[in-house]
Amino acid sequence: MQRSPARRSRPVLTVFSLLLILTFSLSAAAQTSDSPALAAMKQEAVAGVESRAKMAQVMVDTVFSYSELGYHEVHSSAYLSKILEDNGFKVERGIAGIPTAFMATWGSGKPVIALGSDVDCIPQASQKPGVAYHDPIVAGAPGHGEGHNSGVPLQIVAALAVKDIMAKNHTSGTIKVWPGIAEELLGAKAYYVRAGYFKDVDAVLFAHVANNLGVSYGGFTTLGAVSMRFDFVGESSHASVAPWKGRSALSAVELMDVGWSFKRQFLRPVQRSHNVIVNGGDQPNVVPSTASNWYYFREDDYAHVKDLVDMGENMAKGAALMSSTTYSTTVLGSAWPGWMNKPIAEAEYENIKVVGLPAWSADDIALAKGIQHELKVPEVGLDTKINPLRPAATEQSFSGGPSDDIGDISWNVPTIVLTYPSNIPNLPGHNWANGISMATPIAHKGVIAGAKAQAMTLLDLLTRPELLAAAWDYFNNVQTKDQKYVPFIRPEDHPHTELNTAIMDKYAPQLEKYYYDSSKYPTYLDQLGIHYPTLRATPPAAAATDLPQPTEMEDVVAAATGGSGGN
Ligand SMILES: [Zn+2]
Repeated sequence: MQRSPARRSRPVLTVFSLLLILTFSLSAAAQTSDSPALAAMKQEAVAGVESRAKMAQVMVDTVFSYSELGYHEVHSSAYLSKILEDNGFKVERGIAGIPTAFMATWGSGKPVIALGSDVDCIPQASQKPGVAYHDPIVAGAPGHGEGHNSGVPLQIVAALAVKDIMAKNHTSGTIKVWPGIAEELLGAKAYYVRAGYFKDVDAVLFAHVANNLGVSYGGFTTLGAVSMRFDFVGESSHASVAPWKGRSALSAVELMDVGWSFKRQFLRPVQRSHNVIVNGGDQPNVVPSTASNWYYFREDDYAHVKDLVDMGENMAKGAALMSSTTYSTTVLGSAWPGWMNKPIAEAEYENIKVVGLPAWSADDIALAKGIQHELKVPEVGLDTKINPLRPAATEQSFSGGPSDDIGDISWNVPTIVLTYPSNIPNLPGHNWANGISMATPIAHKGVIAGAKAQAMTLLDLLTRPELLAAAWDYFNNVQTKDQKYVPFIRPEDHPHTELNTAIMDKYAPQLEKYYYDSSKYPTYLDQLGIHYPTLRATPPAAAATDLPQPTEMEDVVAAATGGSGGN
């Protein structure tokens, strides 16, 4: 099912090597500085992005207001794909067996460049934007506590700006735009790969929300992961009259967790493993005949993830033996550890340096410092300096971090992840606090900065065949030289689109009242009547310096990924 990456790149390289011979003498200078024609196109792209600032704000605010969990991105997906369709893209919906997934395509011929970003949100992260303390829109409801409402809007703006330039210049090439569905469940991208949606793609420019504009290359930035549910089956009985006639599935779950806790001391420091008990029985007087334990097993490479999964299976087996129960497993999601392409990252970084960070207003900084104060983390405000191009970490220096199933795509096509500054430094991640900037000028400006860098890099890929050739050379001869892609998902696995159904059934009707209506309100903040920024208290500026120093809080995600989030 999986083609060898080395074999598949050949037709691409044949075309490009011909072009290379023809254009090499001209393009040698473009390694360090763009040709006048490319420089002019990039300027035009920047103007095209800026002219869509209002469009970006409306998209960011609208998706924020939908607050849809993984596999239930119904409104988000319909809304974003419609915008692409209205702008001339051909949209294929419901791809790879996932109703909310889509692939939008415009243009023709080579190269084919795919732009993607995640769209799903986080359970119980509902939060009013622009308010520097916990204040949910709907208590208990999901919300964009990571910032996935901003990435696809960024990619759409970049794609439309470049599309105009391609149409004017009759540039050969195809742009694809697609959403990362159910990223928080690691639930779609391995299925996109399996269904062949990236087999003719020459490069992928992904985007993920963070605190800064940045890019990295190499491996050891995100962990590989397998999300697996263990379903135990025993026998019920009267828990007081005849407990000896029962076999508790809950006992099996608890024994499995005890076993894993004892094992944890002997696992490598880079691993992450965590679980929730999604079914612990019905009521105490009925011995639970069914119980389910849902684990994420994370490690830094394919082999070590597989080892963790095997250990998990052993724990389940032992627990079943001890409790006289049986069990079965279901893979609910997976992600390969990401490995990002060096030549494309270097090209993107050159563009990032040109774009620079947005000019933050005093209100933006006040919101950032307000929530940092609230959470007792260093009150650094917002990032004001571009980080260096992040080189590949090593297995020794990598201490763990998030996962994103973009990893699967990165092992099939040269891929980079652009991070862009729409969030606030030092926040916990997967938390209401990470939502507060996501429908404010911080997110709006961050998306525009990101879209500019992405549009410029898209133009690099479309017009500099030597860049794509270098990207594939790195992919074939460095990245996949000794490690080939083998999916974690088994042939019998399929997307578990039933996940999150009960939560969305409960909260979608309540959230509907708060969907953003851009025909009535300039911004979502206006619709909610929120003064920007709203701080818990406004101490006199002079008193701020007298405040006790905030305690240092470890931010593993920021350390591992330069401030980007991830699953
Ligand atoms: Zn994410």
